[in-house]
Amino acid sequence: MQTLFDPPAWPSVPVVGETAAFPVRRIFCVGRNYEAHAREMGFAADRDAPFYFTKTPTAICPSGATIAYPPGTANCHYETELVVAIGGAAFRIAEEEAFGAVLGYACGFDMTRRDLQGAARDQGRPWDLGKDFEQAAVIAPITRAAAFGPLADQRIVLTQNGEVRQDARLGEMIWTVPELIAHLSRFYHLQPGDLIYTGTPAGVGPIAPGDRLVGAIDGLTPVELTIGPAE
Ligand code: MN
Repeated sequence: MQTLFDPPAWPSVPVVGETAAFPVRRIFCVGRNYEAHAREMGFAADRDAPFYFTKTPTAICPSGATIAYPPGTANCHYETELVVAIGGAAFRIAEEEAFGAVLGYACGFDMTRRDLQGAARDQGRPWDLGKDFEQAAVIAPITRAAAFGPLADQRIVLTQNGEVRQDARLGEMIWTVPELIAHLSRFYHLQPGDLIYTGTPAGVGPIAPGDRLVGAIDGLTPVELTIGPAE
């Protein structure tokens, strides 16, 4: 079909050791999935059910980028997360079947305008301004699940200008990856291309122009981001 202007380039994520990239369909993010992070945000861990917010696929930012300090905020935070790349269809899937829908894993940053998120939360408003903005879904190349091996208690670490700020274990997640996939699949037809940012451990904090962030999980390619001046 003829279009009024060229459609934007579809966002995609490289896959380690392969030439074909992973085209991004949707981005789901899990809130407060580590107890110590829930506490540092002022909440008790909620074990009734996971909750989610979403980011627009155009928020994808490749690892290694230098981004301007984001607009409209005076308190932008990093959140280092395990990202699950979905490679198979899943609807009302059982936990026991959930790994069958996983293509692979990546390190990511859920960049957050914490001041805007907090104001929205306090007023009972949606989090979009705080969470869904340009270059707010930073992601490293995806490692195939078979190459990564079983999800266990891998270490997840963030350094900011060489200083360790987040240091935890994936085993600390309140909701495991199969639990999250099974739960999400009750509400959505998960499809290849969907990404799930699985939540951040404690130690989130503000970024500043000149910062260099490196987020690492054992067995995955680290995610890197440099912060430039505000536009
Ligand atoms: Mn997060």
